[in-house]
Amino acid sequence: MTGRVLVVDDLFPNLRLLEARLSAEYYEVLTATNALDALAICEKGQCDVVLLDVMMPGMDGFQACSRLKSDPATTHIPIVMVTALDQPSDRVRGLDAGADDFLTKPIDEIALLARVRSLARLKQSVDELRNRAQMTQSYGLGDPLSAAAAETGLSGRVLVVEDRASAAERISTTLSARYEVVVESNPQQAVFRAVEEGFDLAIVSLGLSNFDGLRLLSQFLSLERTRHMGTLMIGEPEDRQRLLRGLDIGVQDFLLRPIDRNELLARTRTQIRNTRYAERLRSTVATSMEAAVLDQLTGLHNRRYFDRQMPKLFDQARMEAKPMSVLVLDIDRFKSINDTFGHDAGDEVLKAFAKRVRSCVRGDDVLVRFGGEEVVIVSPETSDEVAALVAERIRQKVESGPFAVNRGARQIPVTVSIGVAHLSRYDETPTDLLKRADEALYRAKSDGRNRVIRAAA
Ligand code: GH3
Ligand code: MG
Ligand code: MG
Repeated sequence: MTGRVLVVDDLFPNLRLLEARLSAEYYEVLTATNALDALAICEKGQCDVVLLDVMMPGMDGFQACSRLKSDPATTHIPIVMVTALDQPSDRVRGLDAGADDFLTKPIDEIALLARVRSLARLKQSVDELRNRAQMTQSYGLGDPLSAAAAETGLSGRVLVVEDRASAAERISTTLSARYEVVVESNPQQAVFRAVEEGFDLAIVSLGLSNFDGLRLLSQFLSLERTRHMGTLMIGEPEDRQRLLRGLDIGVQDFLLRPIDRNELLARTRTQIRNTRYAERLRSTVATSMEAAVLDQLTGLHNRRYFDRQMPKLFDQARMEAKPMSVLVLDIDRFKSINDTFGHDAGDEVLKAFAKRVRSCVRGDDVLVRFGGEEVVIVSPETSDEVAALVAERIRQKVESGPFAVNRGARQIPVTVSIGVAHLSRYDETPTDLLKRADEALYRAKSDGRNRVIRAAA
């Protein structure tokens, strides 16, 4: 995995040094000698990771970091602060400004590369999510990127896996002012709980007495239910090799003992923010994919879904030589309901109608709002006789009691006419089948409505 790394430093020798090291690893390296140039490059979306010097004339690295992290267009770009300052308070200041990590000069090359590799990977997966979320804007769900960027990382659920009581206690005390913290000393149990209970972040000690913390983390990273959870490892300075290995397998961050409380808080916050940011984008995509195939008013599937699904159901019925039926339902004299009680009342009837219809069919029947007050039901593995029985059940259910409209102020009787057709010839197309059901419906209407008519084979 390569990527584009932006190195920002006001001193040329520093720039050249980092540029050489990163180029040798096949990263594409961009450079800037001041914060404003760096912001411009980031805004244009030209880099995957930023290595940001702290002390620069003009805008310093802390300020530049805050700017980038508070702008929805650049908030997802990982930032590593690079500086000669190495007091815990300096580190925390960078993390508080939103930086993903902090490296001190002289730079440890292996640590640098491990970090850049893991952040570039994170960035590329977030880019993919952002692209998908951005495409959903056409469904009128607002600006998903700004909504996700509002995530602060200041609340959430944290699982701490640590078997030394005093260490667990210290972590828990530090975090519990902001977060819901669960401590689990048994690694096996931790997996169950993570799967069952759902956490934003797992903090795992690499010093567990009888268990390899990295193995636990790799389980978290591979299980479907936990792989999007944030991960943070805690190790001793001499665990260096394992910590780097952890970054390589996808663990997002680490913290060295003795734990600085503020650093723990800052890193927790960053990881939760990143996790939830991605989670929000993912859920936008899921919601919009659902919205794309569901009818907003009734919750039934829409025409788009039908057009995509119908050929598949058809092929399946043919291949397995299974029966299949189609029902076309149309509310009787619906226009007069609108005319008499208003369009909103009409909508209330449609919603309640959809509900009654749904209560009469099986789970694998596909219900589609086909047009205004017309619903099509595709029933796989259903014979003509059974389909006619179902249709009759629906007809009776609709007629069985009046529909409440105007928020319950009025009750109006509603009836439905239904045409039923059955896949009988194997050269028939979905359109042909639907047409025969439609013709049966038309007969139901002309024969006096509130009835079921079966199409001739
Ligand atoms: P028929 O018994 O012959 O089916 O008579 P009908 O009045 O039900 O048939 P027609 O197709 O003439 O009228 C359907 C009406 O449904 C016309 C349209 O304004 C109304 N309609 C379509 N979509 C909606 C909707 O989403 N909400 C409401 N309230 N009305 C709708
Ligand atoms: Mg009608
Ligand atoms: Mg109609």
